[in-house]
Amino acid sequence: MISFENSQRIEQQRRYAESIARDLIRPNARYYDDHEHEFPWDFANLIWNTARKSIDSLGPDAALFDERYMLQFHINEMISWGDIGYYLCLPWPALGGIFIQVVGTEKQKERLREKFKSDRPTWVCMALTESHCGSDASAIRTRAVRDGDSWVLNGEKLFVTTAKMSLIESDGTLVVWATIDPAAGSRGIRAFIVEAKTPGVKITKLEKKLGLRASETAVVILEDCRIPLENMLGGESSTGFKGAMATFDAARPAAAAAGLGVARAVVEFVKEQLALNGIKIRYGVPRNLLTSIERDIVDMEAQLRATWLLVVKTAWLIDQKKPSTVESSMCKAKAGDVVTKIAQKGIELMGSLGYSRKLLLEKWMRDVKVIDLFEGTGQINRLVVARRILGYSSRELK
Ligand SMILES: Cc1cc2nc3c(=O)[nH]c(=O)nc-3n(C[C@H](O)[C@H](O)[C@H](O)COP(=O)(O)OP(=O)(O)OC[C@H]3O[C@@H](n4cnc5c(N)ncnc54)[C@H](O)[C@@H]3O)c2cc1C
Repeated sequence: MISFENSQRIEQQRRYAESIARDLIRPNARYYDDHEHEFPWDFANLIWNTARKSIDSLGPDAALFDERYMLQFHINEMISWGDIGYYLCLPWPALGGIFIQVVGTEKQKERLREKFKSDRPTWVCMALTESHCGSDASAIRTRAVRDGDSWVLNGEKLFVTTAKMSLIESDGTLVVWATIDPAAGSRGIRAFIVEAKTPGVKITKLEKKLGLRASETAVVILEDCRIPLENMLGGESSTGFKGAMATFDAARPAAAAAGLGVARAVVEFVKEQLALNGIKIRYGVPRNLLTSIERDIVDMEAQLRATWLLVVKTAWLIDQKKPSTVESSMCKAKAGDVVTKIAQKGIELMGSLGYSRKLLLEKWMRDVKVIDLFEGTGQINRLVVARRILGYSSRELK
């Protein structure tokens, strides 16, 4: 039976994350927005050396923990309440690591765990997007060609989060998607593990972005990058594209949770400001008797709560190892819509001050738009839901 009450373990860890978000992250949020491409090392070192021991989902043995996704939901929400860019700076297995943990061989999983025992922070990034394809992953052109006992990779990947941290600043890992047979479409797609400092992999550009400026996003080039055969994710029995797509089921609620953290920050901040101006929200009063501002706040809170419930349900399904494709896409699509609208409304309610850089509201609006873009855009997640509900394949409903 799903419970909405946090276990003691989750509650303790959530409170610890809250102290980091309040005392370290939020006070520095504007600094990193103004200094794009500087990295919050104090945060990364704190997480690596101290916080990982107190927050299970950040440690190397996260996969062994039976409330893992529920905990991850709360931690992502909390860190992002401080600043969503920081959540993408976390030295933890992240999206690439989730792929390895879900579809990797035992040996690949063990190698990942070993990396997370190092005494220096380590990152894992994931490269799928190319200049001509992001949503349609089956159109990937990066090539993997077998040559003796190696795979040789060639191609260009865009918008790779924490690529520099994974490949240059740490002894980390890149999980890269490539095709072993371009004529086979999605059936030819596989994921490969490229270790940091492998010859032939390089970063050519760091993006300048609308938001999320604490987080680094890079262009990665693979030029005759030679990796051992055993670095194909999942090995010879790799489930390829299908297995990799299933991994997004686990990643989407994590992204939705991050968006919820920002939206909660907006609602709390606006309510505090209204209270300072003597405006208190009257709950339990018929809607037609509320002021316009009260109605706006009540609507923001209702949407935030509804999305929160949907994400919690999805995290619970994943922890129970039950199918969650529909809920994962639903909660991500809903979060994308809700959090962007809440951020916009926050600015509207604060008037010109909301539009100024004096407050974080304008930054939150820029940052949170990403929830509608990465790990499946709003449209793509709606497509996934529609296909599942109506019983169409991806060929039948595009
Ligand atoms: C900050 C940031 C970090 C990122 N990090 C990573 C990362 O670490 N690794 C990585 O691989 N990628 C990453 N990305 C890339 C991101 O995942 C892609 O941008 C996203 O999947 C969309 O792909 P695209 O940009 O090619 O847009 P497109 O696929 O070209 O889509 C453009 C528009 O068309 C719509 N559209 C496309 N197909 C359909 C359809 N069939 N029906 C209806 N509408 C459709 C889309 O919803 C979108 O609105 C990141 C992006 C950003 C902004």
